[in-house]
Amino acid sequence: MPYRLVRSRARRRLSLVMTPQGELEARAPMRLSVERIEAFIRASADWIERAKAQADAARAAFGQTLLLEDGGFVLFRGAKARLCWGKSTRAVLNFPEGREIWLKARDGLQAEKELHALLKREARSVIDRAYAKMAVRAKRLPVKFWKLSSSRSRWGSASAARATVNLSWRLVFIDDALIEYVAAHELAHLVEGNHSQAFWKEVEAILPDWKRRHQALRAVRMELLPFYDD
Ligand SMILES: [Zn+2]
Repeated sequence: MPYRLVRSRARRRLSLVMTPQGELEARAPMRLSVERIEAFIRASADWIERAKAQADAARAAFGQTLLLEDGGFVLFRGAKARLCWGKSTRAVLNFPEGREIWLKARDGLQAEKELHALLKREARSVIDRAYAKMAVRAKRLPVKFWKLSSSRSRWGSASAARATVNLSWRLVFIDDALIEYVAAHELAHLVEGNHSQAFWKEVEAILPDWKRRHQALRAVRMELLPFYDD
């Protein structure tokens, strides 16, 4: 079984993780010997087999979201952006081919880091545009700013008491229309805390066609998006 070894100083004991991409990761303390790690992997064969089958099935149902190589792709704003090994690291719009993301690094791990950082940077501006568009339509306007979160279980959250909206950088993977829906949803929560009828009326006032966007969003499996571990 091929695996990726990730050592860290903060780690006290060995653990195995199956990534959504179906790759085995061994997270180990700095000094643990490779023999011990591989013995543990052999002893965990049953768990690995089950976890891999689950990851593969989920990916088959959802579609692959990242192929990190020159000419590969990553899910970006609801469509696959082509990955190119370029001279600088940036996202470009190239007609008629569509979006491309250029990465300077050639090495896999470094390219992964660059892509991760680039996506988070892009997230800020992409989400900001969607949020600003929705915010001007909201009834109550106490919130000019929103905060970028790293949540991997919630697209957004809002606190009426603190008048704050948090939006996950992972929104950058999905379509702009769905980002707008999430922004509208959280803005409505500043007026209505729970999912009451009054709440949905508020959502509708901001975004009249919210229903189809809401449905489309429910089909997205957050746990299958790339960079699950950040
Ligand atoms: Zn809600």
